[in-house]
Amino acid sequence: MNQKKLVFANWKMNLNSDEATSLVKNILKKLESINKVDIVLSPSFPYLAAINSLLYNTKISLSSQNVFWEKDGPYTGEVSSDMLLDVGCSWTMIGHSERRQHLLETNEMINKKVLTSVSKGLKVILCVGESFDQRRQGKTFESIADQLQRGLRKVDESFVEQIVIGYEPIWVIGSGEAASVNDISSVHNFIFNELKIMFPNGKLLPRIVYGGSVNSLNIEDIITLDNVDGVLVGNASMDCDKFCDIVMKV
Ligand code: PEP
Repeated sequence: MNQKKLVFANWKMNLNSDEATSLVKNILKKLESINKVDIVLSPSFPYLAAINSLLYNTKISLSSQNVFWEKDGPYTGEVSSDMLLDVGCSWTMIGHSERRQHLLETNEMINKKVLTSVSKGLKVILCVGESFDQRRQGKTFESIADQLQRGLRKVDESFVEQIVIGYEPIWVIGSGEAASVNDISSVHNFIFNELKIMFPNGKLLPRIVYGGSVNSLNIEDIITLDNVDGVLVGNASMDCDKFCDIVMKV
């Protein structure tokens, strides 16, 4: 079983070629000797190949922020799992709330992306999270269960090791303030129990990472919680010192 904690950097639609390249070079200098954490960087599509060449022979992995479910064909603007593997990605992010919101991604689309990606050999971080309204109405667990069940529908137990669940409460993303440790803890425990029901025969379960305004001040309180196997970092991952600080405190 992979016991390592995971720190996943989501740069979203930020950083140009020079900025992304110099950030990676600086991260590599600072984190050269870090061995105990799985680190994944997810630049925008146009820079994947360039960043991959910098990561060659390092322990840092490369992810896309999205993928399409078809193998090839008339799908203008989309990128397949094979193309991602071809440019050096070992990971893809699926179902981020910003894509659910702005690109109208449904759980059915997300499920097709998960099924294709894992069958092609990509590791997947599947993002789930409740909105502020759902939380206010006491529907957090219902919403998370629905996203998990529909997003992971028909995923064979043999792919479990390739999957990570990113729990990201939508109302704290980019807010500068993470959810409380009590909230994080209760949702992570809930996700863990749901996964146990969904994959009853596996020795393994997907790792569960928390995302939403993680920074170098709150990381230690978050990472020590049960069933928190790592973090997904947005804003703070685009600053070398802040990001490396988080990694070193994990
Ligand atoms: C994210 O959007 O995946 C994220 C974690 O963002 P932030 O850390 O900026 O809240």
